[in-house]
Amino acid sequence: RALVAASQLTLKYEHTIKANDFVLAGAATTADFIPPNAHVRLRMEGQESEVYSQAPDSDERDVDNAVQAAQRAFPTWSKTSLEKRYEILIKISQLIEKNKDELVALEINDTGKAYDIVSHVDIPRSSSNFRFFATGIMHFASESHHMPEGGLNYTMRDPIGVVACISPWNFPLYLFTWKIAPALAAGNTVIGKPSEVTPMTAFRFSQICQEAGLPAGVLNIIHGVGKKVGNAISEHKNIKAISFTGSTQTAKTIASIAAPMFKKISFELGGKNPNVIFADCNWDKMIATTLRSSFSNSGQVCLCGSRIFIQESIYEKFKTYFLDKVKNLKVGDPMDKETKFGSMVSKPHFDKVMGCIELAKKEGGKILAGGKQLKLTGRCANGYFIEPTVIEGLPQNCRTNNEEIFGPVVTLQPFKTEAEAVELANAVEYGLSATLWTQDVNRAHQVAAKLECGVVWVNDWMVRDLRTPFGGKKSSGVGKEGGWESLRFFTEPKNIYVGI
Ligand code: NAD
Repeated sequence: RALVAASQLTLKYEHTIKANDFVLAGAATTADFIPPNAHVRLRMEGQESEVYSQAPDSDERDVDNAVQAAQRAFPTWSKTSLEKRYEILIKISQLIEKNKDELVALEINDTGKAYDIVSHVDIPRSSSNFRFFATGIMHFASESHHMPEGGLNYTMRDPIGVVACISPWNFPLYLFTWKIAPALAAGNTVIGKPSEVTPMTAFRFSQICQEAGLPAGVLNIIHGVGKKVGNAISEHKNIKAISFTGSTQTAKTIASIAAPMFKKISFELGGKNPNVIFADCNWDKMIATTLRSSFSNSGQVCLCGSRIFIQESIYEKFKTYFLDKVKNLKVGDPMDKETKFGSMVSKPHFDKVMGCIELAKKEGGKILAGGKQLKLTGRCANGYFIEPTVIEGLPQNCRTNNEEIFGPVVTLQPFKTEAEAVELANAVEYGLSATLWTQDVNRAHQVAAKLECGVVWVNDWMVRDLRTPFGGKKSSGVGKEGGWESLRFFTEPKNIYVGI
């Protein structure tokens, strides 16, 4: 698929573009030139690409208009009763459920993700984000303490004002709603910025919010290119907080602009997560789960366990079993309900991942499985599929072992002792999540406590309980989301003492 971002390139019905240019069908400014839903053929370095939809190419003026709308809506929305907010948010949740099939199809078309994950994770989770925070805000009480001298000391939590929610392309609607739901529940008005690579479900979601009765100006979704719209959001003095999920590099840009204005920030960023397998693991569950944690969403999950460390005594056995399973994984048409693994999200991302595989070879890595583009037929003939790839033999300090690849690529490395496993796991600048496989309860707790990351799963992977704090350490993030953490982020505490 040739995808999508805002640009003037769509001014013409046929235009030759470079592979790294994104093409958005019909930005707002080009609406006169391309009718909605037109299928426009573009030539992309000799390949035919088909434009399947449109989204606006917004700019600084759109951001400013949206902020003004959000400011106008804030006094009323922040004073709207919790019961009324609850009612609207629950309605949004129900409408996402009701429109599930349509949202699933849009998400697959936009991302190339497999039906399995979109229908079981992305869209149900988008709905439960609203249900969860609608209910959560009803229980998110202010705190009060009676003081020994008879005074009353209490802390209110006020909404912040206009806040921004910026999300990536790998779980488009899921991560967008994961931020927007608590922001709205807490009484803020919101500027929402979905990824330009995957704008479609965000657009459909805006219609759902209208249908649910969300008042005008409370949620303002701005489509457009990250650098242009994103920078305008970071620079806008009336946006008081930014909740961002995306790459560590983009977060540095946002932080450098937002810090002098003392904006509140929450960053959920990249990962290079260890999957540590001890010899005493539950073998069958470990193998099955390691396949998921390695290649789920074709490796385009920030939580994927891309560095697999295996205790030396079971290294060869692991290799044999794991490779056998990997070679039989079914990568295929994302719309096919049997498919577990779909395509890369875009040509530029495909090129990046293939570049990483080439780099791994140069760094001395041995490709044990995969390593190549997978050519499918039929309507997937132009898709950017990559074989699930397993590499071994790399030195610890090489780029492949330290930089996020965000594709279906894992590395294998043996370790001898518990101490060595911890050292290897912590050796990177990232610290998002880790997985541990052992049946020794003491070891599980001891190692988990030593890992420098925000989430540890013992004998499982990617169990996401909405009530628990989520987020990374080191270069994987600042702040936490989930449960009360999200509601804390989107409110400001104000302490009041009354002498009685
Ligand atoms: P990205 O940083 O390129 O883009 C994320 C969002 O930021 C998009 O909406 C984009 O338009 C916007 N953006 C781009 N430049 C901007 C700027 N200068 N100012 C403001 N906004 C800007 O990330 P991506 O490629 O969309 O997503 C992949 C990354 O996201 C990976 O690194 C992955 O690990 C990370 N991720 C992290 C989590 C987590 O929870 N920790 C979850 C999912 C993805």
